[in-house]
Amino acid sequence: RAKATRRGGHVLFETAIRQELENRLTLESELALAADRGEFELFYQPQVRLIDGSLVGAEALIRWRHPVRGYVSPAEFMPVVNTSALSERIANWVMETACRQARAWELSGNNVRVAINLSPSQLQSGDLAHSVAALLEVTGLTSSLLEIEVTEDILLHDERRVLAMFKRIQDLGVRVVFDDFGTGYASLSYLKKFPLDGLKIDRSFVFGLLANSDDAAIVGSTIGLSKQLGLTVVAEGIENRATADFLVGMGCEEGQGYFFGRPMPAEAFERQFLTAELDAVTAA
Ligand code: C2E
Ligand code: MG
Ligand code: MG
Ligand code: MG
Repeated sequence: RAKATRRGGHVLFETAIRQELENRLTLESELALAADRGEFELFYQPQVRLIDGSLVGAEALIRWRHPVRGYVSPAEFMPVVNTSALSERIANWVMETACRQARAWELSGNNVRVAINLSPSQLQSGDLAHSVAALLEVTGLTSSLLEIEVTEDILLHDERRVLAMFKRIQDLGVRVVFDDFGTGYASLSYLKKFPLDGLKIDRSFVFGLLANSDDAAIVGSTIGLSKQLGLTVVAEGIENRATADFLVGMGCEEGQGYFFGRPMPAEAFERQFLTAELDAVTAA
């Protein structure tokens, strides 16, 4: 009897795996079509100086405008993209689109530092520093207006190669920052190993800041650590004024979160955060 059950479970398990694989393949081909049809968009979320709410930058976040489902969250499709043949194509599109946008804003007199999220594949294939240099050249974007966000899974790759690549990117004047700081297994050792320019405190610590003294201790220490290491620090996921004020009290200078603005299309971002000179440039 035990045997039969085990065999039955085995069949169920195989069916589940086959289903999973089919779903993935369907999603993959839908994503390839979406890329052909231009269904991807970049949204921009403001990053501000906490003390006065003034704009310092924007994080570019990908969205899939699905013809039926509407906007699909990257949490749903980026894990598939990042492990498929599409990865490089979409990563390049993100990088190029963000740089062109940042350059358009720069030309309009708005120096908005635009941050992009690096995909793991961008470290595996080719030379990232070279493509970043080429992109700056083609778009004319001032390099200090570009920032690259990396997560710990990216730093897990061949350390020496990644280290050399970051150095070359930073030599161009582009900033490299550590995203979702504190959520990985070895955040501190990466801070020691890699020449980072800044870090972003993950929103899982910021969210409970007011109610949870452990979170407050972690965030407070991370801010102190960043300062001692000479890193800039951005707190992610600020959803209300009280949290922003608390962060200011802890010495945090920059923040990002729904309280200041959700990720939004470029045009909405311009209307809300940039000066009107923009119209003149985009109309010309
Ligand atoms: P991330 O880089 O940590 O981006 C921050 C995420 O937090 C965004 O989710 C943003 O919408 C969300 N967020 C910002 N403020 C708040 C807040 O106050 N409250 C809450 N609850 N959430 C907030 P999003 O846009 O869904 O992106 C999820 C993740 O997908 C990103 O996390 C990033 O890892 C990945 N991703 C997004 N766009 C790209 C891309 O173009 N390329 C790559 N490689 N990954 C991307
Ligand atoms: Mg990010
Ligand atoms: Mg993050
Ligand atoms: Mg995240």
